Amino acid sequence: MRIQKDVSLAKLNTFGVDVNATSVLTFENGDDFSNTNIGGYLKAKSFLILGRGSNILFTKDYPGNIILMKNSGKEILHEDQDSVTVKVNAGHNWDKFVKWSIDNNLVGLHNLALIPGTCGATPIQNVGAYGVEVKEYITEVEIFNTESFGKEIVTNSKCKFGYRDSIFKNELKEKAIVTSVTFKLKKFKGDIDEKYLKYSGIKEALDGKDLTPRTLYECIVNIRNEKLPKVEEYGSCGSTFKNPEISISEYERLLLKFPQLPKFDTDREGIVKIPAAHILEKLGWKNKRSGDVGTWIYHPLIVTNYGHASGEEILSFIKDLQSDFKSETNLDLECEINII
Ligand SMILES: Cc1cc2nc3c(=O)[nH]c(=O)nc-3n(C[C@H](O)[C@H](O)[C@H](O)COP(=O)(O)OP(=O)(O)OC[C@H]3O[C@@H](n4cnc5c(N)ncnc54)[C@H](O)[C@@H]3O)c2cc1C
Repeated sequence: MRIQKDVSLAKLNTFGVDVNATSVLTFENGDDFSNTNIGGYLKAKSFLILGRGSNILFTKDYPGNIILMKNSGKEILHEDQDSVTVKVNAGHNWDKFVKWSIDNNLVGLHNLALIPGTCGATPIQNVGAYGVEVKEYITEVEIFNTESFGKEIVTNSKCKFGYRDSIFKNELKEKAIVTSVTFKLKKFKGDIDEKYLKYSGIKEALDGKDLTPRTLYECIVNIRNEKLPKVEEYGSCGSTFKNPEISISEYERLLLKFPQLPKFDTDREGIVKIPAAHILEKLGWKNKRSGDVGTWIYHPLIVTNYGHASGEEILSFIKDLQSDFKSETNLDLECEINII
């Protein structure tokens, strides 16, 4: 494991916030957390696991050890006529893995194309996009438990996956280092389920092309490239906020003020999800700027660092937006990103 002291994190978070950490420990292939030297760093009170830093906002210097997950690579555990089961190391780049699945004509991950970050971070918030969540493909997650100091397997049903949520953000927060994730992906046999096409704009963007994992992947990449800020050009963590999940009666109350407000079913009876972007746009939060911070030109949920904003400035902007949302709707707009 490589150890560096007093390190700038500017290139290690996609907001591009320039803060320092006391040390960065790079966890690479062959490293083992149960090794006593590495374990010593985990016993120190303050440590933080970092993948690509694409879902984290640093508001100040980090006074502890950053464990940077760089273990990459994958191994096929099982293959039959219908599916492939593959174990991927936590530090492996997510989009590279998605591309590998497309090259191998596997169904499912196309809708999760181009999400920045590592494979090991995907179960943490159960990443999702364009009507699909990663929980559908994960069979198990291997962790190193920082309390018992041993390896454990958390099977899918134990992960308590929810909307941008899992056991790793709750009971196992700071207790589990994800070391690898196992996925089961179906082989393409000529059919793609309708569920992959239901997000608005996908069918239109396919424009009559044959429906295959590759055409769907390319279509999602095109949509994302048009709508979202490119990580290399603008600082952001994608969507900063979760869409609120509310009762039908709360939804009906909101309709009086926002008559065109859409709603989406959830798997909970009587609870619907509403697009916060619709309300924020009506409240004038699309492409709103304050100094170097603002919301994205095309999307008010994406708080963006347009220059050299500090983490504190970004947080202050986030709080202003949340407070306006609350006063106009009486609803809390919860952050999707991790604020440190
Ligand atoms: C332009 C853009 C678009 C995005 N689009 C989407 C999207 O469509 N859908 C979506 O869900 N997200 C999206 N995101 C958010 C982000 O890319 C994902 O949440 C991604 O999975 C984070 O991966 P990461 O490696 O960068 O994690 P990090 O930001 O490094 O970490 C995120 C959290 O997970 C923890 N963590 C990371 N790795 C591990 C590990 N191995 N073990 C234990 N804990 C760990 C960290 O401590 C932190 O709490 C987007 C971000 C950007 C910048």
